[in-house]
Amino acid sequence: MRRRPEHKKIKICPQCQSDRLIFEAGLITGQVYHCLQCNYVGSLILEIDAPEPLKK
Ligand SMILES: [Zn+2]
Repeated sequence: MRRRPEHKKIKICPQCQSDRLIFEAGLITGQVYHCLQCNYVGSLILEIDAPEPLKK
């Protein structure tokens, strides 16, 4: 039986590539993300494939 590799997407900050993004609901702009690392706020974020967790 083959195991399906997980293809999780994670959202990262376009400025500092941190994944410490929190979602903030904006009133006018719609969806807004807030980066806890560099305080970037905006609707534009990067979505990448999550790296596989390292097995020890
Ligand atoms: Zn950032």
